[in-house]
Amino acid sequence: MDRRNSLKGLVMMPLVAVPTWARSAPQEAQSANVPIDDYRKVKIRKVKAFITAPQHIELIVVKVETDQPGLYGIGCATFRQRATTVASAVNDYLDDFCRGKDVNNIEDIWQTAYVSSYWRNGPVLNNALSGLDQALWDIKGKIAGLPVYQLLGGKCRFAVDTYTHASGQSPEAVLENVQKYQEQGFRNIRIQLGGYGSTHLSQEPAYKKYQFGQGDDNTVDAQAYISGTLKMFAKVREKAGAQVELLHDIHERLQPMEAIDLIKRLEQYRPFFVEDPFSPENMGWFELLRKQTSVPIAMGELFNSPHEWLDPMSKRWFDFIRIHISQIGGITPAMKVARLGEWYNVRTAWHGPGDVSPVGHAANAHIDLAVWNFGIQEAPRFNDALIEVFPGAPTVKDGFMFVNEAPGLGVDFNEALAKKYPAPKYNYNWTQLRKNDGTPVRP
Ligand code: MG
Repeated sequence: MDRRNSLKGLVMMPLVAVPTWARSAPQEAQSANVPIDDYRKVKIRKVKAFITAPQHIELIVVKVETDQPGLYGIGCATFRQRATTVASAVNDYLDDFCRGKDVNNIEDIWQTAYVSSYWRNGPVLNNALSGLDQALWDIKGKIAGLPVYQLLGGKCRFAVDTYTHASGQSPEAVLENVQKYQEQGFRNIRIQLGGYGSTHLSQEPAYKKYQFGQGDDNTVDAQAYISGTLKMFAKVREKAGAQVELLHDIHERLQPMEAIDLIKRLEQYRPFFVEDPFSPENMGWFELLRKQTSVPIAMGELFNSPHEWLDPMSKRWFDFIRIHISQIGGITPAMKVARLGEWYNVRTAWHGPGDVSPVGHAANAHIDLAVWNFGIQEAPRFNDALIEVFPGAPTVKDGFMFVNEAPGLGVDFNEALAKKYPAPKYNYNWTQLRKNDGTPVRP
């Protein structure tokens, strides 16, 4: 059936053109041409969460359906460690809360949904809110006929500069991976000696001998990690050259003075940034760190609440804000964080690991394109199955990330195909770390 005819009964004014969301050329930017009395009437019909794992990582996607046939939006609500809990927050509460609301008023919906639970700023509810928020931005772009970055102010750069991850069990193996990525066009490379904390360098810990903890717990030996990381930086900087930007993530695995000591000793290798030197529980140590070193610092992957970033950003305690956008509630709050950072010269470096869905990576990239104080973006890595489930996902070429020019976030979601990839049983092992005597280490 001609979609133009199917929409006739839904609007007060005659349509002058096919609505942009109904067109079939997603790669071309469309001009806004939906009559004003039309878009003002669009209401939310349903909000639904889906869990899928095409890349063996739990992803949570929220779909917001409207009362206009074919007009919907999708957003990322991925908190893999509590996937079904986020889905329940969406399906059992946000759906009911949003039905019948005006799809146009994103700020109003965000503010009212934010306080709808009274208690707020936690990871579960923020992710549910992010799925809703990103889907509403997607819908607004589709109504306007514009990619979301245009709604945020337009491009400040032609594409999004990214960094990729090179790791290996030895400095030589890391160097080999760095050179491989340099050949692929990456100019910015995060280097890690094995997994976070270089757990492979730890000796058999005493707690295992005494059967403390669980059999597959990981062990962190701070001094082995520190000396291994210094050797890795020396090797890579010497052989890969002065031009390549090197990044590193401490991932909170050290005591504060150990982290400060490591960062001071890394200064000679000119890191682009060192990430998460302290856990969020140790924020007060930043003041001391800043007085000791000129190494740029990235922080904020674990932040959920504005109470965690407002004060440190205004004190310029770090150079890059690493927030995981769905963990703070979506594009709407992330734009406010970016604007806050502009005035304190804190640049954005949104968290972009495998547990962000392609639509979440697109949300990162649309903001990256539009905000002046963009710093760098962690590059996505998608397997073929993921790209099939999320057609239109951003692409990476020459170390830059590109979004397509389709209205909205530019990414779709194949619900039927997504069902083929159920979530695996969650593995707690990644977060379970101990010192030699068995003391738990915060990941
Ligand atoms: Mg990190």
